[in-house]
Amino acid sequence: MEERLRKQRPDVWFLTEFVEPWLPVRDIGNLRRVNQRSQQSPLPAELPVTDRTRHRRLRDQGSLARTDLEAILDAGFVCHLGVVVEGHPMVVPTVYGHDGTDLFLHGSVASRSLAADPDAAVCVTVTHVDGLILARSVFEHGVNYRSAMIHGVPRQVTDPEEKLRGLRLLTEHAAPGQWDYARRPSRKELAATTLLALSLAEASVKTAIGPPDDGAGPDAELGIWAGNLPLRTTWGAPEADPLLPAGIDPPPHIAGREAAPL
Ligand SMILES: Cc1cc2nc3c(=O)[nH]c(=O)nc-3n(C[C@H](O)[C@H](O)[C@H](O)COP(=O)(O)OP(=O)(O)OC[C@H]3O[C@@H](n4cnc5c(N)ncnc54)[C@H](O)[C@@H]3O)c2cc1C
Repeated sequence: MEERLRKQRPDVWFLTEFVEPWLPVRDIGNLRRVNQRSQQSPLPAELPVTDRTRHRRLRDQGSLARTDLEAILDAGFVCHLGVVVEGHPMVVPTVYGHDGTDLFLHGSVASRSLAADPDAAVCVTVTHVDGLILARSVFEHGVNYRSAMIHGVPRQVTDPEEKLRGLRLLTEHAAPGQWDYARRPSRKELAATTLLALSLAEASVKTAIGPPDDGAGPDAELGIWAGNLPLRTTWGAPEADPLLPAGIDPPPHIAGREAAPL
């Protein structure tokens, strides 16, 4: 790491010295190993049904399998954090990581959504849109999706080792391989960052899949095309920073994602 940085970024390579000696970094490895760890979560394999997580409508779309929750969390890296700030609801898009037991969210210490009442419950959603359901009637139109909702009171992570571990999970979740490639946070940067851990104990899952519902009803006689219009999200080709000196190619863990699904 130091050797590569010394060659590529002679201006900043020495910063690595600030992090490693004072904070032991537990090796939690790459994303695949992180995901394996999530399979070993101490939380029950079946999601508990609570007053908050009980589906009231479209119950057949719900799942109580924790593996389904983990699959939805693994398939994305942006969530929406719903929180009440100074009496007003706020829904904030933000990146996340998880270890199967906690969901980690981070941001600036100045972020109001992360610094709300420490005893206040929040609600986080993760949503993947898989396609549009185009029915014969407008009423039966819909969306094929996978979504998860997590309820709880987040805990602010202050222990330096846990904070670094959470930030590593978060980074590796979005960009596997990047934690070991990029310069790690300095002491000052860590101090400027808030990290929240939200337990995955109370969560719900809902998925919609398949064709429209009106193929066997009276509207089938209308002779209108109906079906599913799938939506796929894939990564594009890496675009170099215009300020990047010549001769620095994207590393394999970034270049290799081109055309891969999210
Ligand atoms: C991309 C997308 C688009 C949608 N569009 C519509 C729409 O246009 N109209 C519509 O009525 N519904 C839509 N839904 C479904 C919607 O999210 C709700 O599930 C549904 O409307 C029931 O809402 P409710 O207020 O009755 O929830 P309730 O059934 O009362 O919710 C009770 C509990 O069930 C769980 N729950 C509810 N919804 C979800 C969910 N989506 N994912 C995970 N857990 C959940 C939560 O824990 C919640 O606290 C959409 C969902 C997605 C993902």
